[in-house]
Amino acid sequence: MTSLEKPNILNNIEEIKNKINTATKEANRLAKDVSLVTVSKTHDVETITEALEIGCRVFGENRVQEAQSKWIELRSKFPDVELHLIGPLQTNKIKEAVALFDVIETLDRPKLAAKLAQEMNKTGRCPDCYIQINTGEEPQKAGISPVLADEFIKTCREEYKLPIKGLMCIPPVDEPSSPHFALLREIAKRNNISVLSMGMSADFETAVHLGATHVRVGSAIFGQRKKALPSF
Ligand SMILES: *Cc1c(COP(=O)(O)O)cnc(C)c1O
Repeated sequence: MTSLEKPNILNNIEEIKNKINTATKEANRLAKDVSLVTVSKTHDVETITEALEIGCRVFGENRVQEAQSKWIELRSKFPDVELHLIGPLQTNKIKEAVALFDVIETLDRPKLAAKLAQEMNKTGRCPDCYIQINTGEEPQKAGISPVLADEFIKTCREEYKLPIKGLMCIPPVDEPSSPHFALLREIAKRNNISVLSMGMSADFETAVHLGATHVRVGSAIFGQRKKALPSF
């Protein structure tokens, strides 16, 4: 596909699903154990509707306000959608995030855990939480350091009683992803966590080989985003 062409969303999704199928077979896993999280950030309601009509039901957005502006309307037409927050969550957006998202993938610090617990107790709405691990220990990137992960997971579970269902990572752009995916899997295993959100357009097959249960794919479905990538 060249950038001048309109992306063929149907073909792209079929191609990705085929690749996921192949990768799961190679890894002796079942295709049904890998969810495709369609990353719809920067794309408008019309484009997202195309993916919904094809049958996509799990979506990822990285900004709370942008997600609200699109998904309150889309949800009314497609009530069975599962919406994941995959971008950093500021504490002043917690109320909106808890109200809108089904899964918050970017829990990464004690203060956020405390405030999320507070909001969940107040409203009775409890989105699943994944903890974001900064596997590359990059100073500019969100996520808890791997050396602090076990303790943070324990605090989230025991002190804040949060529904910790998964781990998530975004490997450094300039390194092979495999060691980062393997590290995430190792942290999950020793903490009895079964959900692994890892792998994007460039490396989702590798992630499936290393145990991903959720791959987050944007540009391979919708084409290159026009706006600059946010800094994670
Ligand atoms: C944008 C984004 C993705 C999707 O990236 P692509 O390379 O377009 O597939 C996945 N995960 C996160 C956290 C993102 O912000």
